[in-house]
Amino acid sequence: MGLATPPIAICTRCKTPISNAILINDRCGKRFDGVRCNGVYRSALNYADWKKCAACAGSGLHAKKRCEECQGTGWQYIGDGTAR
Ligand SMILES: [Zn+2]
Ligand SMILES: [Zn+2]
Repeated sequence: MGLATPPIAICTRCKTPISNAILINDRCGKRFDGVRCNGVYRSALNYADWKKCAACAGSGLHAKKRCEECQGTGWQYIGDGTAR
C-alpha cells in the first residue's frame, strides 16, 4: 500500500520516512535492537527529493510483506537531508 504522494518528513538518522506532519521535529520513535533511534524527523517537502521505491515499484510491498527499503511507503528519499 504505497502512498500516492511522497512522505513529508524523514528521520535524520535512520532515514525512516513519515507522512504525519505532527511528528516533524519530533524525536524518531524507531527502535533498533531495543535502542531508540536518536534522530529527529526533518521535513522533506521537496518533491524532487523523492523517487518511487525501486525495491517494490512504489507498492510498499515486497514479497507480500511490508517493504523494508521504504518502510512500506513506496517512496525513497534521494535528497541530501538538508532543508532548502
Ligand atoms: Zn530514526
Ligand atoms: Zn519499497
